[in-house]
Amino acid sequence: MQVKDIDRTRSAELYEKAKTYFPGGVNSPVRAFKSVYGTPLFIEKGDGSHIWDADGNEFIDFCCSWGPLILGHNHPAVREKVIEVMQKGMSFGAPTALESELAELILSNNRFIEKIRFVSSGTEAVMSAIRLARGYTKRDKVLKFEGCYHGHSDSLLVKAGSGLVTFGETSSAGVPKAFADETVVVSLNDKKALQEAFEEFKGQIAAVIIEPVPANNGLLLQSKEYLQYLRDICTQNSTMLIFDEVISGFRVGFEGAAGYYGIEPDIITYGKIIGGGLPVGAYGASADVMSHISPEGSVYQAGTLSGNPVAMAAGIAQLSELLKPGFYEDMQAKTQSFVNDIQNFVAERNYQFKVFTIGSVFWFAFTDQESVSRAEDIDPASMAKFKLMHHELINRGIYLGPSGYEVGFISAAHTKADLEKTKTAIFDSIDIVFK
Ligand code: PLP
Repeated sequence: MQVKDIDRTRSAELYEKAKTYFPGGVNSPVRAFKSVYGTPLFIEKGDGSHIWDADGNEFIDFCCSWGPLILGHNHPAVREKVIEVMQKGMSFGAPTALESELAELILSNNRFIEKIRFVSSGTEAVMSAIRLARGYTKRDKVLKFEGCYHGHSDSLLVKAGSGLVTFGETSSAGVPKAFADETVVVSLNDKKALQEAFEEFKGQIAAVIIEPVPANNGLLLQSKEYLQYLRDICTQNSTMLIFDEVISGFRVGFEGAAGYYGIEPDIITYGKIIGGGLPVGAYGASADVMSHISPEGSVYQAGTLSGNPVAMAAGIAQLSELLKPGFYEDMQAKTQSFVNDIQNFVAERNYQFKVFTIGSVFWFAFTDQESVSRAEDIDPASMAKFKLMHHELINRGIYLGPSGYEVGFISAAHTKADLEKTKTAIFDSIDIVFK
């Protein structure tokens, strides 16, 4: 059934105004809706699983601020804790007990790290983890995977060149070639490429960094066996393995992907969920490795707002909810049933469409491949179908991240009724895409 386009008058006005102030009208590029139809929607408020835009349109939200809002919008426990702490002041630039409270919550429920350092974003967490690995190993090169995103620091804004093992090419202007030369890029799920890289750069690779649940270029799920292989090859070469868990941390389980797969990295980075919707990132490792960080060690890293009390309060409130018995089991069951119903619908109609999922993360892919584990397995032409689907879903009150390469998130606030309504909208939209 066709529906008419939503009214975006006010959003369009706000967008025109924003364009006079910000490059492209936004403060982070994907928000500009360049890969989907229409002007970006300017959001006015969120509550539970729903958001409302400036024109009063209501949506069930599956972007969830790109992952942090695992409890949904404006969760009362998070809001109340933030207000309580805020009333005593917002920043001191001196230690507070709240930092230790959040650290204790995390460290006493995580087998993989012994000490942690709070920063203010995922980018900062990863950038610092890379510096730590370089300082610890006294090596310079970093190996990353094509299709994994680790924030916008210079040495990680690098993509693969051609060939199996390549020096990276910068994927942004302004990144010196000399920086990209320190980054080696290989394909995901390719043991041969990895072996070749370790042979070619013997004794030079400080760290291998991976999103153990690669979720920034579609959802490129890796096998436990491959991740274990990665662990082993790093150990054999005295290279540090960094799990970038900015998305997977506290999402696929409280211990993130390290716990999910039972694989121990040397350093783990966190972001998103850890701050309950406020700007927090973190990196952690063994006490020995973390002792190399300043002021204990010689690897410098600092931050005016690091460990900010209001942000710590949001993290404490959110993570405390996640530790309640059955939290992750419920999220997984809810997501699996949602995904199964969509899979059954498309299978009956023989549509070239798959839903890939782990924990409460899902990704819609216009493909008939049983698995997609490498960036190059995704056909860029399939994004035209996503664009149409996105448009149909927006018009039916369903908000997905505005790119077919982005994953969706289900929160604890998504109700059965939300998911039923969403499925109906998805079925109608997919029918239109394949008409
Ligand atoms: N690492 C991963 C895996 C991410 O998904 C992101 C952001 O999406 C980052 C790092 C960067 O985090 P931030 O945007 O908080 O700087």
